[in-house]
Amino acid sequence: MGEASPWRVDVDRDRCLATGGCVHALPALFEIGPDHIAHVIAAVDGEDELLLDIIDECPTNALRLRKEDDI
Ligand code: SF4
Repeated sequence: MGEASPWRVDVDRDRCLATGGCVHALPALFEIGPDHIAHVIAAVDGEDELLLDIIDECPTNALRLRKEDDI
């Protein structure tokens, strides 16, 4: 295995309405959990354009990309 990715995607529990948009677009990375919000289930590539589009297109702005050493 290579180095662990420093990128993280946070899901705002109060904002996610489980529309499934992110899961539909990138099922290898997102799933809807039993708590009815999206969860990140794999390593994040912060330079993946599809991921950046998904974050932009979340209808409730629930997704945030950050590097692990960001505040
Ligand atoms: S697209 Fe946004 S609101 Fe919809 S499931 Fe994903 S994080 Fe939640």
